[in-house]
Amino acid sequence: MKIGILSRNENLYSTRRLKEAAEQRGHEIDIIDTLHCYMDITSSRPAVRYHGQELPKYDAIIPRIGASITYYGTAVARQFEMMGTFNINESVAISRSRDKLRSLQLLSRKGIGLPRTGFASKPDNVKDLIKNVGGAPLVIKLLEGTQGIGVVLADTAKAAESIIEAFMGLKANILIQEFVKEAGGADIRCLVVGGRVVAAMKRQGAEGEFRSNLHRGGTAEVVKLSKEERATAVNAAKAMGLNFCGVDLLRSHNGPMVMEVNSSPGLEGIETATGLDVAGRVIEFIEKNNNGSTRTRGQG
Ligand code: ADP
Ligand code: GLU
Repeated sequence: MKIGILSRNENLYSTRRLKEAAEQRGHEIDIIDTLHCYMDITSSRPAVRYHGQELPKYDAIIPRIGASITYYGTAVARQFEMMGTFNINESVAISRSRDKLRSLQLLSRKGIGLPRTGFASKPDNVKDLIKNVGGAPLVIKLLEGTQGIGVVLADTAKAAESIIEAFMGLKANILIQEFVKEAGGADIRCLVVGGRVVAAMKRQGAEGEFRSNLHRGGTAEVVKLSKEERATAVNAAKAMGLNFCGVDLLRSHNGPMVMEVNSSPGLEGIETATGLDVAGRVIEFIEKNNNGSTRTRGQG
């Protein structure tokens, strides 16, 4: 097959590993810098141009689209879809995953475990908003945050009120969420490929830190998942319409709760922690689906 990887940087671990895994299996790989693509949107003959030339017809593309280039990146991915190329994660699924609120709404409709969450723009009753997610302590999140930045723990209702009002004053969109204390500053990252969890790790936040992000000094180790956790991760990927994603779970007294579904999951942390060939699983999935039989599609 001829596979294109949309990536801003060919030296990134995940990009390198996907290329390596594809080449090992005898495929031809091009790494395409997403922002350097430009599109020819002509009736009946859509094309992508790059360095002054039209790109060839790929059998499949793997989009690695960072949060900061979601709009243009999904447009480039969509253009490949218009040309009939198999995109492992459809552009519309990437867009939906980038909106935390939209994601939670879709997951809740499917009955997937979630922390109780409120969303507000200009609430006329902040006290009720707080009460509605179970009161303090609670977590307040900026809708546009990544890597744990913009995630705040408010210990008391008073603190929560001031933080909510401060964010509102800045016209920021926020989520208010039940604090899952029993998760103990840890979360579970499940790598889902083609409707199966192919690897999982537990990330533990640094001492005294409730956020487990590796970027915030967290550490990772292999973890064994329960049946329920596996099913939750797979169902979350399905609800989002993603074939290749990272599903972050919290272990709560009420079972696994999904916090986030990441449509460009990093491979370095998970492959290092588990020693598993996740990139190989991704390429195998593309091989199996080149005929378009078992693709995941979401709704909304
Ligand atoms: P980001 O997308 O910026 O990583 P997350 O929503 O994933 O933000 O939150 C970052 C981390 O904070 C999570 O990995 C988790 O460890 C912790 N966390 C987030 N929400 C909650 C919650 N409701 N209860 C307990 N811990 C949480
Ligand atoms: N961005 C993630 C973090 O800060 C790690 C990379 C990944 O596995 O997606 O925890």
